[in-house]
Amino acid sequence: MRRATSMLKLAPPWLVRFSSVSASSLVDEFTKFCYQRDLPRAMKAMEAMQRNRLWADAITYSELIKCCLVRGGVEQGRLVHEHVFSNGYEPKTFLINTLLNMYVKFGLLDEAQKLFDEMPDRNVVSWTTMISAYSNSSLNHMALEFLILMLREGVRPNMFTYSSVLRACNGLLNLRQLHASLTKVGLESDVFVRSALIDTYSKLGEQQDALNVFNEMVTGDLVVWNSIIGGLAQNSDGDEALHLYKRMKRAGFAADQSTLTSVLRACTGLALLELGRQVHVHVLKFDQDLILNNALLDMYCKCGSLEDANLVFTRTMADKDVISWSTMIAGLAQNGFSTDALKLFEAMKLRGPKPNYITVLGVLFACSHAGLVKDGWYYFQSMKELFGIDPGREHYGCIIDLLGRAGKLDEAVKLIHEMKHEPDAVTWRILLGACRVHKNVDLAIYAAKEILKLDPTDAGTYILLSNIYANTQKWEDVAEVRRSMRARGVKKEPGCSWIEVSKQVHAFILGDNSHPRIEDIKREISRVIQRLVSVGYVPDTNFVLQDLEGEQMEDSLQYHSEKLAIVFGLMSLPKEKTIRIRKNLRICGDCHLFAKLVAQLENRVIVIRDPIRYHHFQEGVCSCGDYW
Ligand code: ZN
Ligand code: ZN
Repeated sequence: MRRATSMLKLAPPWLVRFSSVSASSLVDEFTKFCYQRDLPRAMKAMEAMQRNRLWADAITYSELIKCCLVRGGVEQGRLVHEHVFSNGYEPKTFLINTLLNMYVKFGLLDEAQKLFDEMPDRNVVSWTTMISAYSNSSLNHMALEFLILMLREGVRPNMFTYSSVLRACNGLLNLRQLHASLTKVGLESDVFVRSALIDTYSKLGEQQDALNVFNEMVTGDLVVWNSIIGGLAQNSDGDEALHLYKRMKRAGFAADQSTLTSVLRACTGLALLELGRQVHVHVLKFDQDLILNNALLDMYCKCGSLEDANLVFTRTMADKDVISWSTMIAGLAQNGFSTDALKLFEAMKLRGPKPNYITVLGVLFACSHAGLVKDGWYYFQSMKELFGIDPGREHYGCIIDLLGRAGKLDEAVKLIHEMKHEPDAVTWRILLGACRVHKNVDLAIYAAKEILKLDPTDAGTYILLSNIYANTQKWEDVAEVRRSMRARGVKKEPGCSWIEVSKQVHAFILGDNSHPRIEDIKREISRVIQRLVSVGYVPDTNFVLQDLEGEQMEDSLQYHSEKLAIVFGLMSLPKEKTIRIRKNLRICGDCHLFAKLVAQLENRVIVIRDPIRYHHFQEGVCSCGDYW
């Protein structure tokens, strides 16, 4: 035994290497410990490897570095760094990048910088790691300087590089400065910079700046077109997005998945089903693209065409993720097919992905609309336990709506006060809706006041409050409400409805007579109303709990924009076609009644989407169950 030890001591290095433990088993050992995230033993094994001039592969080291990061092992990380450069070993760029990232994550920017300076080859990842480190530490000038150096070295920045630089721009002033610097160094015309600038302006809601950057483009590039179309679609400027899409096609660019996704979003926002159907044809080329298919599904749901949505969901989509399932469930629920929504949810629990925040929202919405108070409560109270999701403000909103529908106004108020989140204007509007249906004037006043505290520009709520006071002859209160409205410069935006007829969108605005066929439409409205009166229609002129302006409302009631759009639809669409209308404001009680009766008398299907919900009118009933 003693002899053996002294032999070892005296033995030359190569003998130790092969006599004690074989090279491959030492590396294997090390690899095992790294993947087991056993930091102390991995470090010991690494020491032995270093003594024996052995190295593992880069992926194994990156596992070890991950482990150091998780455990906060700064010292160990430094030792790994030392080891991979020891004895003249030349680590791959990939491995050095991993070390670079480690120093950045530890917040050791100086050490990262030193390593970066010593790198023989720096690729886009190395540069981007440094740029993103500086931009995250709000050292914007450094981030920009590195971007310039990188371009001088001939390394082509990628999306992450620019997004890192531009991410530093959380304020408009910041972005404008960076934009100016980019222009100064002549970088602005770079396709990726241009596209990143458009993205960032769009993200900050500065659509005009985004358009300016776009319009300065001399030669086009698909990336830039996609940025501007995507930005506009996301900022609800669907008209402009579609306009640019047409220009892009004229300029000879073929739309890719990203373009089509944005165009579908624009169609969704504007409820343009026919155009959406045309885009669907182009989507077929990319039939395996999940994001694009989800956008298509959403378009059909929000344009109220559940048949098409169902076909996409069941036939086209081979892959479905939680977004696909949630979109379909919410789509069914919002369009009045609550039972189908709940059936689909059961199927999802059996063979779909794990439900998320949005899925549960759709389920609660369905329960509330189907009057399933018990089921709704059950899901609401056990969502944390069943799906691991804490109820958010929107879930509370659904349950308040559910209680409101069931006439349990006191319980709804109690729940609002028990909410973990401060109730917002949307929450109170839900309660106000319940008060309107159940004619609870006192609670309506309370809810309206809360809404105005949170959103003092809500014209509809002022008018509703003033109508309530007028009805009880509280003229002083009426005057007070009107005064606050004037003081804040609040004006109710006029009602506007849109309808798509033979690829053209027709807009009808209350009090606007510019439509070329307006006289024909008004004559037809009178005829329709006469027919409706003969079967018992009485215009609903009870405005107490509505947000219609008093003076002009009775005269103008018959020319509300949705009535004009419905009648125009009757006149210009074949009988089997659904009349689809989008409205900017909540539908009033009289128009709702009108639509129900027209649907019955004319045997038509009418779908109206207002900012909050969908109304499917068929055979004299509405999918909302007269509650909205
Ligand atoms: Zn109306
Ligand atoms: Zn309805």
